[in-house]
Amino acid sequence: MTINRDTWHLLVPKNTTFGLPCPTCANGKLRVAPGGLSLFEPRHSADYHDNESWEPDNVSERWSARLVCDEIPCGEIVHLIGDMEVVEVEVDDDDGQIYRGARQEVLRIRSAFPAPPLFRISKNFPPRVRRELELAFRLYWMDASACVARLRTTVEAMLDHQKVPKEKLDKNGKMRRMDLVQRIKAFTAGAAHSDQLDGLRNIGNLGTHGGDDVDYGDLLDALDVLEFALSGIYDSKSINAKAAKLKAKKPGT
Ligand SMILES: [Zn+2]
Repeated sequence: MTINRDTWHLLVPKNTTFGLPCPTCANGKLRVAPGGLSLFEPRHSADYHDNESWEPDNVSERWSARLVCDEIPCGEIVHLIGDMEVVEVEVDDDDGQIYRGARQEVLRIRSAFPAPPLFRISKNFPPRVRRELELAFRLYWMDASACVARLRTTVEAMLDHQKVPKEKLDKNGKMRRMDLVQRIKAFTAGAAHSDQLDGLRNIGNLGTHGGDDVDYGDLLDALDVLEFALSGIYDSKSINAKAAKLKAKKPGT
């Protein structure tokens, strides 16, 4: 299942209901608890309003939101924190023309705990893979480059679990360490769905230059490929086993 891009914006309107997936149960969505959104302006910002060089853009605000899972028996609580950002807003004027230039404050999410899953972490995934994914999902809100680094570690953990070699002999008979992209190439060569799995290489290449060079669209694409690969490797066995069990069942048993 591909990740719904609209759910994972870092900037959201103040009146949003969120709707992020619950980290604890499979079907729940997280909604703002009544009165659960708090906005505050720090003293240093409020005092600056009196300064002659003050402009509306100078305002700093902090917010926190308490979200609750809408599946009643679960009721998980997730806290989000962040600050405000000003964005341009398009407004329809009376003549049906779109007017650009209006500005509005929106919430920027800086952190979420416990972190909503960008995709479901199956209990069939090896513990190291599960751990790395949980960290990646937390870092998603804080630092895209750090999130990508964790996704690369997740792929390394999966390749280790699949016993993909870490070293190779070069043509001169010398041992060479294989980088992540080479290991992915070795894993996908000849594998079923090798075309789709080839997308894993994007994770190896994403954001390798450091800094802010990670595009969130690329990051979400990489997550789609990773989910496809992990569920294909670790969940298909249990699905096949269940199918075989059903097939073996005689009618009426
Ligand atoms: Zn829940």
